[in-house]
Amino acid sequence: MIAVLKSGVTKAQREKLTQWIESQNVRVHVSEGEFQTIIGLIGDTSRIDMDLLSSLEIVEKVSRVSEPFKSASRRFHPDDTVVEVGEGENKVKIGGGNFCMIAGPCSVESEEQIITVAKAVKAAGARMLRGGAFKPRTSPYDFQGLRGEGLELLFKARKATGLPIVTEIMNAAHLDMFADVDIIQVGARNMQNFELLKELGRSKKPILLKRGLAATLKEFLMSAEYILAEGNPNVMLCERGIRSFDTYTRNVLDLASVPMLHELSHLPVVVDPSHATGVARLVKPMACAATVSGADALIIEVHNNPTCALCDGAQSLTPEQFAEVAERVNELRTLITR
Ligand code: PEP
Ligand code: MN
Repeated sequence: MIAVLKSGVTKAQREKLTQWIESQNVRVHVSEGEFQTIIGLIGDTSRIDMDLLSSLEIVEKVSRVSEPFKSASRRFHPDDTVVEVGEGENKVKIGGGNFCMIAGPCSVESEEQIITVAKAVKAAGARMLRGGAFKPRTSPYDFQGLRGEGLELLFKARKATGLPIVTEIMNAAHLDMFADVDIIQVGARNMQNFELLKELGRSKKPILLKRGLAATLKEFLMSAEYILAEGNPNVMLCERGIRSFDTYTRNVLDLASVPMLHELSHLPVVVDPSHATGVARLVKPMACAATVSGADALIIEVHNNPTCALCDGAQSLTPEQFAEVAERVNELRTLITR
């Protein structure tokens, strides 16, 4: 349920109302927009007298929100969420008209590799560095990532370039090790690891939540809701393609999800054309299409030597190829925001 307040309502009047709602065992989410303030009621609202609420002098209208995701819903929070990371000249904003590119290898392999790639993607215009330290591999015999050492190398790469870092967590028990990570990624395979999501909700760290391998948008948003419900508002949704029957591409990039997610939710939407296609030559056209579809950021795999990559070489761009993608994407951004 949401209650839209009349304009000119004072803070004291608003607080009196939220206290009254909370006294009925319902949680309150206040969204103060430029033009209106919306009070979102979360929990069992069956005992709230809608007519009584609507009749209050400071309330303009009351309506029920049918979506099961409340905090993630745009109806609760009409303004776009903007996630901010980094400091000073390395500060990056995502969402609400702020766009950026995140690039780096699938996995961190060595100090030389990550620093070379970090410098190259920065020079090409990336504002953040990605790199997996803990890798969710289908086979237990494949490279599992450098784990803690990989995180240390990412910190070194950040020091060398200033780029904030994005890296995947697979186990809530590792959260302490991730304390200094700028954005924690939850991979597709863990989108419904609800205990992990709850822990991340309590951590307040910016979270990049990737869409599950076969998740509906409702399931995707319900997973975001797990993080938001614990009090962490810094969630970004990442479309990375979904399973289908074709085998020429790794996944099917669902670009209609971008405007649909923007309609349903206020959270920034990031697109990953690398995992979505699995084919390096398809990354550029899909990065362009994702930009035009309204993505708030792109996350792209780049390796200094893709043929020797320990993971996902086939979909990784060289730094030169990434620079071409970045140039084209920037041109398209200026066209669509004009
Ligand atoms: C990744 O980004 O390295 C990754 C494993 O992606 P996904 O979870 O989308 O498969
Ligand atoms: Mn990968």
